[in-house]
This record gives sequence, structure tokens and C-alpha cells, in this order.
Amino acid sequence: MTALQQQDPEIFSLIQQEEVRQHNKIRLIASENYVSSAVLEATGSILTNKYSEGYPGKRYYEGQQLIDQIESIAIDRAKAVFGAEHVNVQPYSGSPANMAVYLAFLKPGDTILGMALPHGGHLTHGSKVSISGKYFNAVSYALNEEGILDYEEIRNKALECKPKILIAGHSAYPRILDFAKFREIADEVGALLMVDMAHFAGLVAGGVHPSPFPYADVVTTTTHKSLRGPRGAMIMCKAEYAKAIDKAVFPGMQGGPHDSTTAAIAVALKEASTDSFKKYTAQVVENAASLADVLIEKGFNLVTGGTENHLMLIDLSNKNITGKQAAKALDAAGIVLNCNSVPFDKRKPFDPSGIRLGTCAITSRGFAKAEMVILGNMMDRVVNNFEDSAVLAEIAQEVQALCDKFPAPGLEHIAK
Ligand code: PLP
Repeated sequence: MTALQQQDPEIFSLIQQEEVRQHNKIRLIASENYVSSAVLEATGSILTNKYSEGYPGKRYYEGQQLIDQIESIAIDRAKAVFGAEHVNVQPYSGSPANMAVYLAFLKPGDTILGMALPHGGHLTHGSKVSISGKYFNAVSYALNEEGILDYEEIRNKALECKPKILIAGHSAYPRILDFAKFREIADEVGALLMVDMAHFAGLVAGGVHPSPFPYADVVTTTTHKSLRGPRGAMIMCKAEYAKAIDKAVFPGMQGGPHDSTTAAIAVALKEASTDSFKKYTAQVVENAASLADVLIEKGFNLVTGGTENHLMLIDLSNKNITGKQAAKALDAAGIVLNCNSVPFDKRKPFDPSGIRLGTCAITSRGFAKAEMVILGNMMDRVVNNFEDSAVLAEIAQEVQALCDKFPAPGLEHIAK
């Protein structure tokens, strides 16, 4: 019996059931992944016992001999993986990381320009329900009718509103961003360029997506999506902004860093620098393209007509099913994803017309082209039979049989 099992069987059992769920399901939520056992071990380590407000060599508490080394290694590895000049690994997650950037450079009421939430931007890029939209004058740019970024429209908006920060980055955009264009626009209006690469950071690390680093003043990212690390975040920036960013993270936004997360970020970055990670990210992109092909052949309407990264957005308006109905039916069939607004959606955000899916997690468990064909066919059957619980149960069994052949990282003990 483990200590947890003995002391708190209720929580132990729920974690165990979640392990089984993560093994048994085809997880397509575009922001999720499976971390390695090594990353899990660091996350769950005794480093959680330590307090270390400050930065390596400049702490407010003693006993930092080892923590300083861990944080310095994480920083050095991030610099090496991304070619960043300065790195802060302390943000608790992606949202506070973005807030810290605003705190570093903005005063309340200053203008930011980012991608509209219903068009694929993130809440923290200026949505009115987020601090980013309440405390700042947040202006947003939209996609064109085909769901593609229109750089002329971004330029016009920027010229009009003169943002202090221009934000590039998204949570649901299946295309590669033109960082050089964003830079040009930022320069024209005298804005800082912030790239939030949370979704595609792993692809940048693996060299299968253009890097924002030659262009951006500041790059933020979560560490737990395509980068396959623990839940956390990093802010990377040009050396000239190092002081402002570090001050904004601590003491501006946060107290003590989560040292166990810092260690796990270091472990994930070591993994991200390997050839096997490069292969993994190439497979993520290949899998997305293969799955997109199968779905298009089945008559699914992919926003922008396909994908260039790990994710795709599907407008289900032509399928007589809402995004929520599809997501619920797919979940019942063992395929887990989220409903999502599509650009110019006529439906409400809580009950939108589309679904979003990504290939990071399934690629981590070894799915490749053959499985994409099987998966695309299963998704088509679910959507065509979403009210038939017998069909959904039958597909759930097929999903489980497929998953049993592909033990996920960290969950090998669950595989039969
Ligand atoms: N930025 C982008 C582009 C995201 O997609 C997300 C999360 O989905 C975040 C920031 C926020 O990250 P977190 O949920 O860790 O706060």
C-alpha cells in the first residue's frame, strides 16, 4: 500500500480512477499531454517543502544551495532550447505569466491589441471578462471569412489604437503565425511585440514550427501543453527587459516560486532538447495533417481548410450537430475533446458550433498515421450516430482496445 492509499483512500481512489481514464480514452484536448515519469517524479518531489522567494543568488530565505542550482539549470536549459536571452521560470501558469508581462510594461488604461477570444485568442489577451480586458484598454483583431489572420487588418487596427503591446499567439488557430509581419506592425506603431506561444512551444523546441525569438521582445509560454512539462509557465525576453520582467513576476505578481515545478520544467527541457523529442513533434504535426485529411474526406468542415500545427478547429454547422452535442457524444465514445466557437459563430460560446482537437497527447502514446485513419473513422461514426447510445458504447470498446495497445507515458502500469 502506498502512503496515500493508507492515509486518504478517497483521494487515492479518485487519482487511480483518473489514471485509468487517461489510459482508456483518446485524449484530443489540444492543450493537454502526457508527461514522462521523470517529469512526474520531479513534480511530486520534496521540493514542494521549500520556500525561495527571490531569484538564484538573491533570495529572501536561507537554505537555497540546491534550489538555486535547480532554478539556474532550468533557466540555462530554456535558453539553450529556445535561444532566449533571458528566462524567468517562476510564473505559476500561463495566465499569471501574461499578467506579469502587462504589469512590467503597462499602466492601467494602456492599450493592448490581441487576437479576439471567439477567433482563437486567449482570455488573457484582452477578453472583457479577464483582468487583461478590465484593467487595460483591450482592442482585438479578428480573422477573415476563411478563418485566416489578415495582417492588413491587424496593421490598420494597430495604427488606429496605437497599442503599447501587440500580442501574437492563440489557443485555437490551426495555422502558423507570420512573426516577421507582426514585428513589422509593432515597429510601425512603436509597440512591444509579445508572442504567447503556449500552444506551439513544443513545436518550436522541436524545430517543426518557426521560432518567434528572432522577432519578439517577450515570449510567454505554458510548459504543460506541446512542451510536455509540468503545469507551469515561463517568460522569455530580450536582455534589456530582464529586470522589468523579473520584478513583475516577483514581487509584482507572485510570492515564492513552486520549486518542484521548476525542477520538473528543467527535466522537461532536457527531454525537449533530444532527437527523440524532435521526432515526437514532427509526428504531432504529421498526425494532425493525417487526421485532418481523413476528416475532410468524411465531409467535415475544417476552419481554414486544414492545419499546419498540432490543432484543428471543426465547424459542425453542416453536420446537423452542435459542438456541445458532438463533444458529449465523443466523450461517451471514449474520445475526449472540447466544444469551441468557430470564427463568426452564430451560436453562444457555451453552446458553440465547433469542436477543437489536437494531437499532442495521442502522439505521446505512440499513435501514428494508421491510428489517425482509425480515429477519423470513429469520429465520423460518432457524429453520424450521436443519439444512438449502443453505437457510442460499441465505439468506446474499440477505443479502449486501441488504447491498450499504446501505453501512455507515466501510465505504463495501467496498460493490460
Ligand atoms: N495562453 C494561451 C495561448 C493558452 O492557450 C493558455 C491556456 O490554455 C494560457 C495562456 C493560460 O494558461 P493557464 O491555463 O496555465 O493559465
